[in-house]
Amino acid sequence: MSYERENIKRLKAYTPGEQPRAAEIIKLNTNENPYPPVEAIMHSLTEVQGEQLRKYPPATAQEFRDSAAKAHDVQSSQIIATNGSDELLRLAITCYCEPSGDTEGTQGGLGLTDPTYSLYNVLANIHDTPMFVVPLEDEYAMPADLAKQWNDAGCKLAMIVNPHAPSGRAYSLDQIKQIASDFNGIIIVDEAYADFAEEDAVELVKENSGFDNVLISRTLSKGYSLAGLRFGYGIAPAPIIDTLDKARDSYNTDYISQKLATAAINAREDVAKSWDKVKSERSRVEKALVAMGYKVYPSQTNFLLAMPPVDAPDAETIYQKLAEKYIFIRHFDHPNMCDKIRISMGTPAQNDALLKALEELK
Ligand code: PMP
Repeated sequence: MSYERENIKRLKAYTPGEQPRAAEIIKLNTNENPYPPVEAIMHSLTEVQGEQLRKYPPATAQEFRDSAAKAHDVQSSQIIATNGSDELLRLAITCYCEPSGDTEGTQGGLGLTDPTYSLYNVLANIHDTPMFVVPLEDEYAMPADLAKQWNDAGCKLAMIVNPHAPSGRAYSLDQIKQIASDFNGIIIVDEAYADFAEEDAVELVKENSGFDNVLISRTLSKGYSLAGLRFGYGIAPAPIIDTLDKARDSYNTDYISQKLATAAINAREDVAKSWDKVKSERSRVEKALVAMGYKVYPSQTNFLLAMPPVDAPDAETIYQKLAEKYIFIRHFDHPNMCDKIRISMGTPAQNDALLKALEELK
């Protein structure tokens, strides 16, 4: 006897990258930051007192919102704090997408591209909302009529990742603006990797930007070396934040994470030093891979997507052979991704070990 709802019965859950336990592994598979959280963050952890844990945490994470607002030059009312940015994405679907039983075809559903961050599809299936998926073009370019296709399908919410995952490609601010103005619903710009990019879309959510339908998603998991903390946030016009706020858990972020996240945002300048190191490794590893004959996709993230040359083993074999050497990268079992590998940038020593292992595989 199964007591599950039909859509949960059908659900294929999200597959996270492996989290092996051995200490000696080189872990380049889930786009974590290879450097530890900065001193100011770790210091704030030492200040946590039992008395603060006895009480419920501040419900709206006001201190964090004030700091994030200052960092992005927006109002606090334009920030929502969430349990990882994954929670923000889930909240947006809850608030804006119609469950399929209440709607016809793809009306009221979620607009996506293919490929994209694979969790979006899972979240839509959990909510049981219809999806309309538009394939990206060569080199992961967005089709010029992307917003029109979503409009024609009746989508009320759409998600794009910029810079794009899993390719690393950055779309220009002009392209994002065009989509926001053409699309009839709310557009989420998932900027999980914006800390490693040249541009972001924050100006589109500022007061007087002329847009009322842009929601930016940010995370502290990558840029701030805090994937274990689970802290993300949204930046949007205040009415969007008010909507999301109604549907979140009352205490969706805990006291410790609020405190550390606030310290992290306030230490942004110091944190940014790791972004520079990651970016310089990104260009060094890219050059080395190209010299080995790999096709490497231009990236503005902390990872590289690469297609092995014909004289190397195929992508899946490379993934397996590296795992045998305790070097973990990512391989996606997805139609137009399975001939490529995705490598998160590690420290120079970790990247050297990876490059050496790849050389030996040829
Ligand atoms: N968006 C994208 C594009 C990601 O790659 C990830 C990390 N897997 C997330 C969001 C989720 O980040 P968080 O750790 O904040 O939930």
